[in-house]
Amino acid sequence: MSLELYNTMGRSMQKFTPRTPGKVGFYGCGPTVYNYAHIGNLRAFVFQDTLARSLRFLGYEVTHVMNVTDIGHLTGDNDDGEDKMVNQAREKGQSVLEVAEFYTKAFFDDIDRLNILRPTVMCKATDHVDQMIRLIQRIEANGHTYSAGGNLYFDISTFPGYGALANFNPDDLKAGTRVDIDENKRNPFDFVLWFTKSKFENQALVWDSPWGRGYPGWHIECSAMSMEYLGEQFDIHTGGIDHIQIHHTNEIAQSEGATGKKWVNYWLHNEFLVMDKGKMSKSSGEFLTLQYLIDKGFDPLDYRFFLLGGHYRSQLTFSWESMESARNSRRSLVQRLARITENAEAVPESLPANSPANEWIDRFRADIEQDLSTPRALSQLQGLIRDTDVPPAEALAAVARMDQVLGLDLIESAASLVASSKETGDIDDGRIDALIAERTDAKKAKNFSRADEIRNQLKESGIILEDTASGTTWRRSIGEK
Ligand code: AMP
Ligand code: ZN
Repeated sequence: MSLELYNTMGRSMQKFTPRTPGKVGFYGCGPTVYNYAHIGNLRAFVFQDTLARSLRFLGYEVTHVMNVTDIGHLTGDNDDGEDKMVNQAREKGQSVLEVAEFYTKAFFDDIDRLNILRPTVMCKATDHVDQMIRLIQRIEANGHTYSAGGNLYFDISTFPGYGALANFNPDDLKAGTRVDIDENKRNPFDFVLWFTKSKFENQALVWDSPWGRGYPGWHIECSAMSMEYLGEQFDIHTGGIDHIQIHHTNEIAQSEGATGKKWVNYWLHNEFLVMDKGKMSKSSGEFLTLQYLIDKGFDPLDYRFFLLGGHYRSQLTFSWESMESARNSRRSLVQRLARITENAEAVPESLPANSPANEWIDRFRADIEQDLSTPRALSQLQGLIRDTDVPPAEALAAVARMDQVLGLDLIESAASLVASSKETGDIDDGRIDALIAERTDAKKAKNFSRADEIRNQLKESGIILEDTASGTTWRRSIGEK
């Protein structure tokens, strides 16, 4: 068996062959740091992480590059709307860089809480304007640009393959399918490489360039930074499906327009997380953050578990019921693992060749090799821990191996559940129930400080209280922070 990935370029499953045997270079479009990431954005980053982890699990050495967009991303992808960063800075009464710094930190907090491994390189657009300018000069030297109204545009008529990723031919669609308000464009699909004059007279950050003082279009940063860290040709590029039509289509035109060579071999796109009501977006102002899920009593890993339960190319609908069911499944998984942990002798570093656990790992690997099928891989994990022929220590070694891909902290959570059960062994259930009753009375009497005190006292003993519509229930902690 070998790894097969669904390539948006060509819309088919394709055997993965890296440019250099054993090594993979991959670039994933990162966050625009003008606000908190919403849980839909975080799906894109859990997906990138799953890809990086899977490739490493399969033995590849991975260079994972992710950008941080801190300039130039307009509210419309098609060079329209306002700059998202500048809008937010104005609203908050801060500078663009202050806004960027604040939300970049918030982004790192989120990805850490979701167990997303830090990419090999994280790069900020504002640190790479020189590289962007040099790349635009190459595009210009190859005859792909024109100046109009003070801005420099990419002329898509000079790039015959334009639209291949999105499977569309701009000539077929020219007749008014998209309304473009920029009258400088010769073709509505042309796009800005460098702005000097635009509707934003008050653009916060500007740089000198051969085309005048101004700032880059949004798409160029990804071409420039990916080439900076991965070379002019590399293996994999990812993003959400919303990027296929414009952002990635334009990235390809600029990159290949500059180098004259094929840029990326495999394009992977994650489907959207949608709300019951429809699309989740930052700009609409209606979105859920990871912190909001935590405030509602969920562990970040419940959300990760929920995402892994769907294939990255299937749309997922968020609901509180599905989050609860993910939480319950993750808890029972950890509880079962805790029982295995209690029965396990020393866990071997590697599995003996004749271990029955190997078969489960082989199946798990085969599922991952089929376009990263995490739902099927999770069912192999469930099968493994129910297989009574597998000795407990070997089961744990196999779970640890699978968790390299899943990133659910399974071994640590099970160990911490075992430890907290031991510590709390001497609190009997009657004592817990009495404290819960006292807390309920305290709440009724509006004595919230006593109620909180009881919750914290129990938490220190490894007992987590949960308030439900039918009263307060308790369970042992599975390692919540
Ligand atoms: P942004 O910070 O808006 O530039 O988006 C960051 C990443 O999240 C991009 O790869 C988007 O394609 C992706 N994305 C945006 N919304 C969603 C969503 N609702 N579900 C999944 N991915 C999304
Ligand atoms: Zn990008």
